[in-house]
Formats: sequence, C-alpha cells, structure tokens
Amino acid sequence: MTDAPDRPIEAALFAPLLIAWQRTRGRHTLPWQQLGAARDAYRVWLAEVMLQQTQVAAVIPFYRRFLDRFPDVRALAEASLDDVMQRWSGLGYYSRARNLHAAARQVVERHGGQFPEDPALLETLPGVGRSTAGAIAAFAFARKAAILDGNVKRVLARVFLVEGDQRPAAYTARMWALSESLLPDADIERYTQGLMDLGATVCTPRRPACLICPLETRCLAHRASREEDLPMRVARKPLPERRTALLLVTRGDRVFLERRPPSGIWGGLWSLPEIPPDDADSLDAARRRFDAPGPVQTGPGFVHGFTHFVLHADTVRISAGPAVDTRCEDPAGASRWVRFDELAQLGLPTPVRALLATRAREP
Ligand code: SF4
Repeated sequence: MTDAPDRPIEAALFAPLLIAWQRTRGRHTLPWQQLGAARDAYRVWLAEVMLQQTQVAAVIPFYRRFLDRFPDVRALAEASLDDVMQRWSGLGYYSRARNLHAAARQVVERHGGQFPEDPALLETLPGVGRSTAGAIAAFAFARKAAILDGNVKRVLARVFLVEGDQRPAAYTARMWALSESLLPDADIERYTQGLMDLGATVCTPRRPACLICPLETRCLAHRASREEDLPMRVARKPLPERRTALLLVTRGDRVFLERRPPSGIWGGLWSLPEIPPDDADSLDAARRRFDAPGPVQTGPGFVHGFTHFVLHADTVRISAGPAVDTRCEDPAGASRWVRFDELAQLGLPTPVRALLATRAREP
C-alpha cells in the first residue's frame, strides 16, 4: 500500500479513476454492452431486469434467447404472458417476467413504444426500482443518474468506510446520497459500468482483490484492513421450512397441470396441483377427482430454496382412470392435460420441470 491520506477520496478523483480502470480492465464483451454507441433502451432494460437477481453467466443465454423471440418492446407487449413465462422459465424470480410483460405494455400504451428518459418516469414501470431506473437512464440515455445495487453498496461502504446496520432506511438514504455525490459530468455510461464491474470482479464480498483495485490507495476500509467487515453483515435467521405435496397425475402420455395464480411463488407458471402433505381427505378427494383405480404412491419430490423459505415437496403419483378425460380440466384454461413432449413449450418452475423429466415416466 502506498502512502495516502486517511481521509475519503474526493468525488473529483473517484470517477476519473473508475472510468480509466473500466476502459482498460472492465468488461466490454457482454452481449448488452455497446459502450460509446447509441444504446437500445429495450435491451438495456431487459439486461438490467435479468441481472437483478441472477449472475451474468446465467443471464447471457436467456438474454439471447429472449431477444431472439422478442426483439423489441412491441414484440414483447404483443406476446402472451404464457409465451413470456415460457422463455423466462429457468431464470427464477418469476415476478420479474410478469413485470417485464406488464412494463412492455405500459411503454407501448403510455409512451408510444419509447422508453422514457427520465429516471423518475422509468421508475413507474413495473419491476423497475430506483437503481434499475438509474442504470437504464445512464446506459441508454447518458443521463447523470445514480445506481445503488448490492455490488455498488459494497464498494462505496468500503471505499468510504461506511459503518452501521444496513437495514434502516437512514443507511440506504445515506448511501444514495453518497452515490449521487460521486457522479461525473461526462462518460456516465463508462462510470456506471465501472462501478458494476469493480463490484462484480474485484471488490467481491469475500477476499476482494485490493492489490489490483484502482482505488486501493484511497480506500479507507483497505487502509484499515477492514475490507471484509464492510458492509456490516446482518446475522441471518435460518429460513423457515414449508412442506407441500404435488400431485403427479398421468394419463397415458399426458400429465395434469394447473396454472399457478398470478402472484405468489411461481406465479403464472404451469405446475402440478398441490395438496396439503399427509392429508388423507385431500388425497381421497384427488383419487376421486381422477378416478384413480389403484393405490397412489407417495414419495419424496424435491427441496427448493426460495429467498424467504425452503420448500420440501413430496410427490403423490396417481394414474388417472381410463374414463377421466377433459372433465378434469378447467373450462377457463387454468388446468389441463399436457403431453410430455409439449412440456418444453410451457413455463414451468425449474424443480417441477426436473421432476417431470426424471420421474414422470417411472413406473
Ligand atoms: S481497495 Fe479493496 S476493499 Fe477497497 S474498493 Fe478496492 S477492492 Fe474494494
């Protein structure tokens, strides 16, 4: 470490260091990057939404496939929600897909198919929070707008040695003010990209690579050897566990699926009907509904972690009776028999898709 003052880096120095670093060491080949060129707000928005809760490497193939199918905001707005959910299937956090679809319609209906440039207007789109709005405004319209995602919070908390519990609104307000105070007057795209790149590739949560960091000599946490103490971690309680039972009802080459309600977990996706676990009455009702001639088999299904709980799903296998046909289906289309070879065209939760792929044809 070289000798440097133990006071925070000046805003006038922060941005130039980051911009210069991004130019030589940042990421330039991500499919949604077109630094220096006019950027397409639709593509920027799509990438930012996909990146909200998913790592870059996982996003890239989905981003490409999504763009192939929905090349612009009008194509997305005109698509059915089913089609959108199917393309999103596997990426998780499905409310993002529902919001994406609703936002595309909003852009077409209220803004004539053009994304607004003002971050405050961008924030009115479903699924677009303040940081995502800032990123879209900076990348697509070169607006001087701040971002504050988890990576940026970490970088700023370390460089400026911001201590304290991250949960109170006052902490967030302080970090937003800090982020805004550092914005450069020019080259906002490269600056914003630099902040993202530094947080993702150098100033990582564990073992940050301080020796190759452009802020190494001016980072207060590094100077105090406290990089990994910041931002302060909040002790997490173990996640609650929930149990459910999924009905895997088959009839020849078909399986019975229901569309999940629009909100809640896996909202809008197709899935197996659910009943309470170990509930004899529900099991009997299911057997009657599907005319199950023989005994049903209950066994383990999968364990799936959500942000707020862990789901343990058992499976109840039922072979539907020969007389059961479309009468089990919902006339409004919320449940139906689906051929196994059609499953790829439907939006299914990843663990349910895996369950159907590996178990559905077992005797
Ligand atoms: S010097 Fe280390 S802790 Fe500070 S910003 Fe750079 S990588 Fe992060």
